[in-house]
Amino acid sequence: MTVLPMVQHVRPARCPCCDAASRPVNGPLGMRGHGLRARQVYGPHDAGDAPQQVTVQARRYRCTACGAVVVVVPRGLLPRRRYSAAAIGWVLARVGLEGATTPVVRAEVCSAVVLGVAAAERWLAPSRWIDASRRGQLFPRLGRHGADSTRAQVAERTAMQLVALSARGSAGTPAPHLAFHGAALAA
Ligand SMILES: [Zn+2]
Repeated sequence: MTVLPMVQHVRPARCPCCDAASRPVNGPLGMRGHGLRARQVYGPHDAGDAPQQVTVQARRYRCTACGAVVVVVPRGLLPRRRYSAAAIGWVLARVGLEGATTPVVRAEVCSAVVLGVAAAERWLAPSRWIDASRRGQLFPRLGRHGADSTRAQVAERTAMQLVALSARGSAGTPAPHLAFHGAALAA
């Protein structure tokens, strides 16, 4: 999670704004490295571990055709989310499949809660994740859900999709552990 990807490994294939090819056959490189931006990410290193807060480096690219700046986050992270994809999968499974309450689950993925910093605040992140999942905008590989589904239903179905994506399935592995690994793959 703290490993910085090499520039050429994560360079966008084409500009998402103007669709200019990143590596035209005859011509200059379209997406140029534009520096790094540090991001704080919450979540356990592995399913069931103590939560951590780590600093990761997102790489920025600038399109030489239209000037758009594209931020590429390391594998296992979702754009604009403060929690790792795996931690989000864990939360959705704990809430959606096991009926755990958000204060309990929050302490499992956020180290600040252990220290008491954020314990008093109402935790809105799971509702935002569920609403994004309903629109198909949480995990890029998963589809959208019906607009009439309740948050509980969306959480449950998203968690089951993540469980199904996990390659580590074996009898007796708890669903949140499977969803944790499936979510890392879905990011
Ligand atoms: Zn562009």
